[in-house]
Amino acid sequence: MLFKEVAEIMEQVESTTKRLEMTSLLVELFKKASPAELEKLVYLLQGKVRPDYEGLEFGVAEKLVLRSLSEFSGVDDETVEKLYKETGDLGSVAEMLAQRKIQKKLLSREPTLTDVYEKLYKLAKLGGKGSVTQKTSLLSSLLIDMSPKEAKYAVRIVTGRLRLGIADYTILDAIAQAFTGDKSNRPVIERAYNISSDLGAVARAVAEKGLNGVYDFKITVGKPIRPMLAERLTTVQEVLDKIGGEVAAEYKLDGERVQIHKNNGNVLLFSRRLENITSHYPDAIEIVRKNVNAREAVLEAECVAINPDTGELLPFQELMHRRRKYGIEEAMKEYPIALFFFDLLYADGVDYTEKTYLERREALKNIIIEDERVKIVKQIISRDPEQIEAFMEEAISEGCEGLVVKDLKASYRAGAREWSWIKLKREYKAEVADTFDLVIVGGFHGRGKRAGKYGAYLLAAYDPDEDVFRTFAKCGTGFTDEDLTVFTEMMNKYKIGHKHPRVDSKIEADVWFEPRIVVEIIASEITLSPVHTCGLDVIRRGSGLAGRFPKYTGRLRDDKAPEQATTVKEIVEMYRNQLKKVEEQPQEST
Ligand code: ATP
Repeated sequence: MLFKEVAEIMEQVESTTKRLEMTSLLVELFKKASPAELEKLVYLLQGKVRPDYEGLEFGVAEKLVLRSLSEFSGVDDETVEKLYKETGDLGSVAEMLAQRKIQKKLLSREPTLTDVYEKLYKLAKLGGKGSVTQKTSLLSSLLIDMSPKEAKYAVRIVTGRLRLGIADYTILDAIAQAFTGDKSNRPVIERAYNISSDLGAVARAVAEKGLNGVYDFKITVGKPIRPMLAERLTTVQEVLDKIGGEVAAEYKLDGERVQIHKNNGNVLLFSRRLENITSHYPDAIEIVRKNVNAREAVLEAECVAINPDTGELLPFQELMHRRRKYGIEEAMKEYPIALFFFDLLYADGVDYTEKTYLERREALKNIIIEDERVKIVKQIISRDPEQIEAFMEEAISEGCEGLVVKDLKASYRAGAREWSWIKLKREYKAEVADTFDLVIVGGFHGRGKRAGKYGAYLLAAYDPDEDVFRTFAKCGTGFTDEDLTVFTEMMNKYKIGHKHPRVDSKIEADVWFEPRIVVEIIASEITLSPVHTCGLDVIRRGSGLAGRFPKYTGRLRDDKAPEQATTVKEIVEMYRNQLKKVEEQPQEST
């Protein structure tokens, strides 16, 4: 397959906002690729060369790209830089320069998809001394044979600016359609993705062997499993009604979720969004080596900051001190952690994801050696609302957020948010104040003291049905001076010249951003709003829902991808529950 065919489809995908159209473009392209090409193609479409969890990045600075552009085109540095200043997009500069070149001489040969992939892979692998020069010449040698369109997309890939907006499940749909002829096979294929987190490998397997390819997929230590997620409800009774019969109620600890992979003495840690965070917690590695009694295992735990003197749980903010590149040793002493294990997914050849909650918990008990830094999450099994209510009070008084209530019979549903896990948090009990994890989609210029920075942000909830972000709040409070500076710098990296195609907004922001960053805000209640698009027309025609008095809590949810933000459906549910509560409250006499 020639890279020119890929670039052509990238251009067409970029110009459509319709998912179905996007899917059929991909189906046509996928059918033309060999299985080995398809694997590479799937990574490239997502702007990478390997699955995320491998943490392989291109690591090219703007300056390096500018140098390569000048090198391959023979145009001097100043002119290249000037073009960049004018367009603000290195991809477009590459396109223009390639155009000029073409006018001078015909291209000698057309690069294949594999040529391009291999050069990009090599580039990402380069590191250490002298790598800047090597990367520069590698990139320019890649561009030299490219047509303008190819050069544009190749440069966008290496600079991390390929914004095609193709969601994982669009690719899964396209794989199902292209190689099994039926989109309804997606769930089977998705299971392979959920236990491997490697879309390229899944695509290749299906292209090679059809559905048999995915039946062969097994849990592999070292490849993260996409986490099972919880739904939420407001009262214990609702939870009991939903699950039915006896349930397990577990403490909901307020720390960082870690997926732990142990292979003899080798231990890897993955975050909730499956990034490799092994280096954040050297102390956890030691704990796992010592306290996990299995040769090979995949487990889930909540990593929580504790007071080592009292064993008290500390708030989530304390754990944030551990998010640093340097001084990890000191931070380890100053902010020690404990691990609270809550699930077992794999151990010594047995896939526990297929087993019930009760079986998994039993096996967990046999594998974990508890001590003051290692616990199995506290749990009760009950059908009595009062007993569960009391357990929740206890959890909260011990510094937890509330409870996660689990269905005893449910298997571990990787990658799914279903009713077999339901969270009950304190905020929902305390009047109507609540927190939301929202995606920054727009910005407003600050005035006065905030001049030169963004003074407020437009925030949106996620709508998985249509794969778009719908606005729910405009928020400018809760940010410290430092936050404002840091956020402005951070968000400028995601600035785009127009509203993102996946953003649904009636409000005109001063500046639009790519939906990438998730922040936690607290709001005192949810109100009907004529200007926001979250839940538009659901409760009342012409009205959406908005957070009232939204305030940034200081918690940047960089452990969440935008698709993991609070959903529109959750907000609509919360609004309905809030109404119920208001009705239940005794009316004040006047
Ligand atoms: P939140 O923002 O409320 O922490 P979330 O959106 O990150 O939730 P959910 O799947 O909705 O993730 O809620 C489950 C989260 O709660 C897990 O990701 C995990 O970090 C945390 N947690 C704490 N204790 C438990 C437990 N006992 N069982 C499962 N998850 C737990």
